[in-house]
Amino acid sequence: MDGHRRGRRPDRDPSPKILTETGNMPTNHRAAGAPADQSSDIPQVGLAIITGSANWGLAFPEDVEFEGVRTLQRDMSFETPFGRTDNWKLIEFDASITAEGKAKRALCMYSHGNPRDHIDHSCHRRAFWVLMRAGVRQVLSCSTIGAVNKAIKPGDMVVNADIIELTQTPFSLLPGRQSFDCSGKQIVCPRCAAVLVETARRHWPAECRVHGIEQQLVAGHCYGPRLTTPAEALAFRNMGADVLNHSIAPEATLSREIGACFVPCAFVTAGFNDYMDRNRQQLLQEDVLPNLSMTASRVALETAARLPANPECSCHGLKSPQPEERSSRF
Ligand SMILES: [Zn+2]
Repeated sequence: MDGHRRGRRPDRDPSPKILTETGNMPTNHRAAGAPADQSSDIPQVGLAIITGSANWGLAFPEDVEFEGVRTLQRDMSFETPFGRTDNWKLIEFDASITAEGKAKRALCMYSHGNPRDHIDHSCHRRAFWVLMRAGVRQVLSCSTIGAVNKAIKPGDMVVNADIIELTQTPFSLLPGRQSFDCSGKQIVCPRCAAVLVETARRHWPAECRVHGIEQQLVAGHCYGPRLTTPAEALAFRNMGADVLNHSIAPEATLSREIGACFVPCAFVTAGFNDYMDRNRQQLLQEDVLPNLSMTASRVALETAARLPANPECSCHGLKSPQPEERSSRF
């Protein structure tokens, strides 16, 4: 079954294209199928920010009240071996706010928004193919989560240490089955998590908590978009999950597959009792999201600014090439 993919391996693909939009586009996205205007190379950046439900309703970073970040380009599209990926932004952090005192750039993409007109769980493979070609070494990913651990409350931030996704991601980017070994250990980067948690604890509301990676919490992944049923929530809880997330598994797994560090910036919008109450029609605590989306977005930008531009991290050794004979001799 692998034969039909042979010509589409990422490492064999012809040079990547970036398709940029000219003219004034008032909207935050390009309609699916809209023509692309010109081609150039994927920007070379060390950092990516994947936005999601944690930033819902905000143009990120334009609407975020945070000094020192500007959008250099928006509505960027790229052709990949798996199809086109749209709605990218190139952002720049001013030298005054970065770890090294030098300006740096990042690619930014709204994961729930690609494509915008239908559900396509393979969107992450296209996105991370772009990040691989960009040379990204650190991925910061924003989302909202549900808690199945009774001690974790709506409004809490959780930087989990591990994930459960029983099928792993079906959308691998590895060039062949036996070329690389990808470890499942340290799926969340402890170095990035330390920067995120230190930043979040300075900004997060005092009445809510920031659960750091040292608590060793576990995120169960379920693709959605349907929200989790009470029975599914209990099943994940029984398997050892503390929180549930609709986007973390492909983001974490594909970060590992491109050799990048991964850290999730996520806060709770539904608690255990919200999942279990079958008489209550609603799952999400609607007041949590608008209150915290701006704070979470600021925390994400400040964390991204503080992450080193050229990190040395043990995560990068957790994708390792296999001896050539394992793929050539069979
Ligand atoms: Zn790392």
